[in-house]
Amino acid sequence: MELDDLRRVAHYLVIDFEATCCDQGLVPRAQMEIIEFGAVMVDAATLQVVDEFACFVQPVRHPRLTPFCIGLTSITQRDVDEALPLATVLADFRAWLNQYQDFVFCSWGDYDLKQLQQDCAYHQLSYPINAPHCNLKRALVERQQLNGKPGLGDAIRLAGLRFAGTHHRGIDDARNIARLLPFIVGDQVLPTKWERPRKHR
Ligand code: AMP
Ligand code: MG
Ligand code: MG
Repeated sequence: MELDDLRRVAHYLVIDFEATCCDQGLVPRAQMEIIEFGAVMVDAATLQVVDEFACFVQPVRHPRLTPFCIGLTSITQRDVDEALPLATVLADFRAWLNQYQDFVFCSWGDYDLKQLQQDCAYHQLSYPINAPHCNLKRALVERQQLNGKPGLGDAIRLAGLRFAGTHHRGIDDARNIARLLPFIVGDQVLPTKWERPRKHR
């Protein structure tokens, strides 16, 4: 999506999902499922968050969270055991999203778009977002001419900000991604130059 198109909309829907995962291959990429739905709606004129949608989602394919996943996200087994199923969450999300017409679905990378498509396909639920997607990581790299792709934590540091809340919690990640919008669609310039970390050999 071109920057000019991104600048023409009324709102930015910034979404960050957390999902089941494992560092030992027990949850293959194709079987990961959303466990936290974090979304903020940003007014494009002010770049302020005007609304939020956040909840946990109950996974069914790998319902026991791995210690790695709990450690990464700080999401507990109880959080997901008590969570609603994806079908209910998506119905609530659609109702919330219905308040807004003119927006772009934004996320840090393409992962969140693909994860939502994967979960909708698996559960045979229709895809809930009637809007184009924008990869804000790519947009930041282009806009600020970075020679590498920063992770969200790196980007927040480059912006001279401190990460607010807990990194790898969907709603906190979404809020922090939204704080980078002035450096993507606004006129702010990153105060720090990004150097891609050297690979050690
Ligand atoms: P994030 O938005 O960066 O918190 O990542 C979203 C999801 O991707 C997480 O909930 C995990 O399922 C997965 N993920 C992120 N980082 C890793 C990692 N280092 N190893 C395995 N899975 C990861
Ligand atoms: Mg993410
Ligand atoms: Mg996240």
